[in-house]
Amino acid sequence: MSSVGPYVNKVEAELEKICSVKKAVAVVNGTAALHTALHVLGVENGNEVITQSLTFVATANAIKYCGASPIFIDVDIDTMGMSPDSLSKFLESNAIIKNGQCFNKSSGAKISACIPMHTYGFPVRIEEICEICCNWNIPVVEDAAEGLGSKYKNKALGTFGDIGTLSFNGNKIITAGGGGAILTDNLEYAKKAKHITSTSKISNTFEFHHDQLGFNYRMPNLNASLLLAQLEQIDTFLSNKRDLANLYKKYFDSIGIKFRYENSNSKVNYWLMCLEFKTKKDRDLFLIESNKSGVLTRPVWELMHTLPMYCNCNSDEQKNAIYLQERIVNIPSSYRYIK
Ligand SMILES: *Cc1c(COP(=O)(O)O)cnc(C)c1O
Repeated sequence: MSSVGPYVNKVEAELEKICSVKKAVAVVNGTAALHTALHVLGVENGNEVITQSLTFVATANAIKYCGASPIFIDVDIDTMGMSPDSLSKFLESNAIIKNGQCFNKSSGAKISACIPMHTYGFPVRIEEICEICCNWNIPVVEDAAEGLGSKYKNKALGTFGDIGTLSFNGNKIITAGGGGAILTDNLEYAKKAKHITSTSKISNTFEFHHDQLGFNYRMPNLNASLLLAQLEQIDTFLSNKRDLANLYKKYFDSIGIKFRYENSNSKVNYWLMCLEFKTKKDRDLFLIESNKSGVLTRPVWELMHTLPMYCNCNSDEQKNAIYLQERIVNIPSSYRYIK
């Protein structure tokens, strides 16, 4: 079979080692990892799921795939990820706990998960978010698609929440062409994730029995073989990118432009490196001039709460997300081949 095999098992074991987590389940891409994680946690049609507006569209899409609606919470300026203060504020004024479950007071919908995202590999205030969610009985799915190799207080991103998810898409720090994974210390969740991502087929029999709705989300063994070769080089990739980040920092410090750098309790993978301009006008000028000179630079994603399919969803003020959206630019961040 192409989607079970020795390389898939090896990839899972390697990820468990790299991230110091009990279980890794390899899947076909990062979006499927998010969808599976929400499914495992019981997110259902009509539920609401909290996330941030400043993210890649896959985070919100995975929520929609479950028939649930996203609630967009603002980010912190310094982490670019979900703000625990805004999260707390939203829950205090909008949520209520009934029979041990969290509900939105105005819509009546169950709030069945929260997905903070580690933007460009910079850790969010994940411990505070987990604590708030724990108090409100909301499970946490950590979208660490961009965070493999990053650490918060010396612990791998994707291992703080109930479930964490990774992506190995072509543009990510480690790639398998396409791929993703689920990380969890909960053995039941891992078992369920493995089961539903392989069409919920009961194995050990030649018959085709499927005991519940399943997905064809397993990582092909072929991709896993590529991924394994990449994972073996992760330390080299990370130190190469860190060297580039240090060069950038020195240069941009010298000309008075803010280069986003890790703080004392985090270690960043520098997946995509970013500059923060003082105004939108400066940002626009830089984007135009750099691209004109053949240097690919890009703004951050359009905010989710402004996209056609999400503009009617519940959203708080998004003051910081808008601030960052107008000022952050990604600059070339690839591994450098140095002779
Ligand atoms: C890349 C990415 C995903 C989705 O991963 P795919 O493997 O492309 O499906 C999800 N969330 C974030 C934040 C991402 O950057």
